[in-house]
Amino acid sequence: MKSKIFFLTIFVFLIVGSIWTHYSDYKKTANSSEEEFIENTLKDLGYPSYANASSAFRATSGEIYLPVKNFYKNQTVNPFGVYRNGRFVGYHSGVDIEVDPEDLDGEVPVFAIYDGEVIKVSDAGGYGGVVAIKHNFEGNKDLTSIYGHLRLRDIKVNEGQKITSGYLIGYLGAAYTSETAAERKHLHFGLNKNSDLDIKGYVDNLGELSNWLSPRVFMEQANAKEPR
Ligand SMILES: [Zn+2]
Repeated sequence: MKSKIFFLTIFVFLIVGSIWTHYSDYKKTANSSEEEFIENTLKDLGYPSYANASSAFRATSGEIYLPVKNFYKNQTVNPFGVYRNGRFVGYHSGVDIEVDPEDLDGEVPVFAIYDGEVIKVSDAGGYGGVVAIKHNFEGNKDLTSIYGHLRLRDIKVNEGQKITSGYLIGYLGAAYTSETAAERKHLHFGLNKNSDLDIKGYVDNLGELSNWLSPRVFMEQANAKEPR
């Protein structure tokens, strides 16, 4: 009897272990291959953001910061450029940075990536709280950074305010509440080149997508610093 239970226990452990290994491998490859596929497709199309995302936008003063901690590690679920046809339809104009499980109930601070002027603080459909900051790069080039799904009542900046690189903007909103427009807890982060403010999280075609930079490529090329 004892040996039966012993073997049964071993058997259950082996099954659970094998399912877990396969599941985590599946998760890894599903995410990274989708991201690679999109990036390669956009590269093949000669998509401008991949040629020189940040060499076209060089910092004149100070340094460029990542908008949230674990920016690279946590952004494979909904990559830049992916086409979605669900609640939102179109090409994803930014990246989604997920939160670690231990941060689901905690505070996740969000920071300005560079010196600039806050041009929008509002409650917007699909976002909940959203902040846009206009930056000026070398050669008088404007670039607007957009931070979506923030908790609006705790936002630390006002429209018209001049802020510096790495400034605390606010915190991510709570999952599946009005703070995130009923989305999971995550940061939607976009970089837009238009002179007029555009906070669209999804765009209709690749022509429109070319007004947006790949945030991951931009941050890598700018050698962006971890937020403090
Ligand atoms: Zn998004």
